[in-house]
Amino acid sequence: MSTACLTIQETADAVSTGQCSARDSIQSALDRADALNPKLNALLQTLHEPAIRAATEQDNRRAAGDPMPPLAGVPIVIKDNMCLQGSRTTCASKILANYESPYTATALEKLIVAGAIPIAKTNLDEFAMGSSGENSAFEPTKNPWDPSRVPGGSSSGSASAVASRIVPGALGSDTGGSIRQPAAFCNLVGFKPTYSTVSRYGLVAFASSLDQIGPLTRTVEDAALLYHAISGSDPLDSTASPHPITNPLTNLHHPIDNLRIALPSVARTHTNHPAVTRALEHTIKALTNLGAEIIEVDLPTLDHAISAYYLIAPAEASSNLARFDAIRYGVRAEPKKGDDLFDLYANSRAQGFGPEVQRRIMLGTYALSAGYYDAYYRRACKVRRLVKQAFDNLFQPTNPSLACHAVLMPTAPHPAWQIGSLADDPLAMYLEDYYTVAANLAGLPAISLPAGFCHDTADHPLPVGVQLIAPAFAD
Ligand code: GLN
Repeated sequence: MSTACLTIQETADAVSTGQCSARDSIQSALDRADALNPKLNALLQTLHEPAIRAATEQDNRRAAGDPMPPLAGVPIVIKDNMCLQGSRTTCASKILANYESPYTATALEKLIVAGAIPIAKTNLDEFAMGSSGENSAFEPTKNPWDPSRVPGGSSSGSASAVASRIVPGALGSDTGGSIRQPAAFCNLVGFKPTYSTVSRYGLVAFASSLDQIGPLTRTVEDAALLYHAISGSDPLDSTASPHPITNPLTNLHHPIDNLRIALPSVARTHTNHPAVTRALEHTIKALTNLGAEIIEVDLPTLDHAISAYYLIAPAEASSNLARFDAIRYGVRAEPKKGDDLFDLYANSRAQGFGPEVQRRIMLGTYALSAGYYDAYYRRACKVRRLVKQAFDNLFQPTNPSLACHAVLMPTAPHPAWQIGSLADDPLAMYLEDYYTVAANLAGLPAISLPAGFCHDTADHPLPVGVQLIAPAFAD
């Protein structure tokens, strides 16, 4: 039985009813990985042996009449900034090219306990810094819809692997849009949960107050399944919320005719690609037809969110990445005669980090330095608070009958661009995150949903996504 076109739920059902063994399901995903990865460069490492071993154990358990976990036999891929014991975790950086994970990230551990089987670690922008996958030290990933275009980033390989049907689901991380934007570029569902509902233990930190792990899948139900499996408190991450998480699967089929959805006017006036505007208008019509009320609102803080994000995220990155000093972590540069300790640090970091990571470290160090801290970092933190307040005013206004249940916007201003076309213009690339960063600054759950295709510019139709942002813990 071919499992390529099955969703996570369908794969789990096929394995649990014995239509397909766990081993066949995993082997067929590995075969697809071997066939497609040379074209897509989505995977940095495949895990043939451990994956087949885990599947065989599940089949043996089944044969012995033991109960099977709910996601038994479901193949998944993991962004290579999450630790999986026994595999390398490179963050697509030369500096961690040989780094072996000493333990498994909690979110991944929970998924494995639920029965899912990791078959590969996926490519990404180095240390998750980027919006296209081109900042990987191990070559860019291609978009399966049009291999001359980027798949989005930074969870580029996770998106490419799910869209090309190597696997039905993946874990990505989202600091400023890295799950949602590649999902939009690859016609997937990408979900960034409320900050703190998924443990970050074992996720290599980029910007700790913004980073969240979440799923990329082909259906909303699958995203809910994966989220349900990975969420919950964790004694190993003090920022993981003890707040009980409601099972998102129970709310999936609720009618939406009592929903009030806020539409920031800026989403209509911002310079979007015409296909993005069309997809947004189409979504508004579809939601209205289903009975939801769309209310146009002012959300001027979006303009400031992008500036605040590009100060706060690099500031936190500059501090988090200080640990890669080539002594405790990281590839060490060959010492030259007369080099002192400082030279060793500087040479190793200059050789180990790529240009975008170096740029972020310099920007962040500058924003945090004495004399500039108040002008940049502290001010950005104040803007962050205003961004959060603007969402609070929509979700919990003084008159509760005016409360909105969600905010609707595009996921990204453009569909996937040609590989290389923005590579020399970091600022233009940063502006592509216009719609995604606010949810991270405010810690809110946000989902990107497939919303149609752009037929304007390309030989191949290009997917377009829309985004819904909800109140904290309304995942
Ligand atoms: N594109 C954004 C950045 O480069 C977001 C990255 C992310 O979410 N990891 O910072």
